Amino acid sequence: MIDYRVSPETQARLAEAAEIGRKELRPAGLEADGRGAPIPPDDAFFERCLARGEGGTVWAGPDGKRATGPRRSVVERLLLSEELAYWDRGVIIAMPGPGLPENNVLSMGTDEQKERFLGPFLARDRPRWACFGMTEPGAGSDAAAIRTTARKDGDGWILNGAKCFIGGASRSDWILVQATLDPTKGRGAQRAFFVEAGTPGLGGFKIEKKMGLKAYESTSFTLDDCRVPAENLLGGEARYESSAGFKTAMRTFNAGRPQIAANAVGMARAALDESIRFARENDLLGRDRVRDRIEAISRKVRKARLVCLKAGWLADEERPNIIEASMSKALAAQMAQEATTLGLELVGLVGARGDHLIEKLYRDVKAMDIVEGTGQVQRMIIARTLVGLPR
Ligand SMILES: Cc1cc2nc3c(=O)[nH]c(=O)nc-3n(C[C@H](O)[C@H](O)[C@H](O)COP(=O)(O)OP(=O)(O)OC[C@H]3O[C@@H](n4cnc5c(N)ncnc54)[C@H](O)[C@@H]3O)c2cc1C
Repeated sequence: MIDYRVSPETQARLAEAAEIGRKELRPAGLEADGRGAPIPPDDAFFERCLARGEGGTVWAGPDGKRATGPRRSVVERLLLSEELAYWDRGVIIAMPGPGLPENNVLSMGTDEQKERFLGPFLARDRPRWACFGMTEPGAGSDAAAIRTTARKDGDGWILNGAKCFIGGASRSDWILVQATLDPTKGRGAQRAFFVEAGTPGLGGFKIEKKMGLKAYESTSFTLDDCRVPAENLLGGEARYESSAGFKTAMRTFNAGRPQIAANAVGMARAALDESIRFARENDLLGRDRVRDRIEAISRKVRKARLVCLKAGWLADEERPNIIEASMSKALAAQMAQEATTLGLELVGLVGARGDHLIEKLYRDVKAMDIVEGTGQVQRMIIARTLVGLPR
């Protein structure tokens, strides 16, 4: 039987997240949006994140004994993600930590790599970031089409290519770069490499201009005869048999879909609350037109939330969730766009002024449809899975 109960500890954490969100995340997000630039890496905001115990890794250390907080179910993690995104999705992505590639390192990395690349995050001595570099100017949805090459050179590898829209790249201690040994050989020829900050040949960082989520940087960079040692190949040579290299990357995306869906639900909830607040303050709740929009947003939020929790619950049960994970992402991202559009309609001209939270949410949510597989790509995955074709 489906059970979405959360522990008292997680209830308390949700209340704490709401408090931090109200005091810290929302103001930081609005400020970055107004400035049109990411929160700088040396901002005191990140020191406060570390002081609250954020910015670490879930890796338990070489002896497996480092306390990393309570283990939470996927459903509980989704609820927390939703709550944090309610306050500001851009700011939570800006927070320090090993981010997107942490799961790859945990599942594929050697013990030595976990210690070298995740170990420093245990110290929480300064804000640290890491990121995952897959997307290229000519390869987004079709991740098998990447052109960044890796060539064996003595006891190391030489990387050449260009990446774009990589979250936090210019401030990361290391970037997990997806490259190919032979662009004509498709997925099986792909490998992932740790490229550490300051490695000669890694450069050309350029923070992209984006329409929303301005609190964190999305950055392009180049790899120009960039040499990394053999030990920087994720998982070591032995792990890369058949198409395992590509599957590493895809695993990251698959694990993240309900998470993105939960973020979208949180952002849509924020649009709903803001719409109600605006309507109440402006004495509009008596109008059918206004109540109609509030009902529509509320219904859509609840529907998307249920699909998202189902995807999480299946993961907790260790049951296949490919369809639900993709459905939750496709549905919630689209729903959040509709919710913010309805919210904008409700606030009318005030929204068009460009300084209203709903207008910011309207710009922020579009990325939820793009990252980790666009809506079209999710629908293709669902359709192929439904008729029994490989993804
Ligand atoms: C805010 C943000 C943060 C990001 N962070 C990262 C990051 O940290 N690391 C990283 O590696 N990447 C990151 N990305 C890149 C993201 O993964 C890509 O933008 C995404 O994969 C889509 O690729 P694309 O933009 O090149 O679009 P394209 O793949 O060129 O797609 C363009 C359009 O065509 C549609 N389309 C594509 N193929 C098909 C098809 N076969 N059938 C039907 N329609 C199709 C798409 O749905 C889309 O609407 C980020 C992007 C954004 C916007």
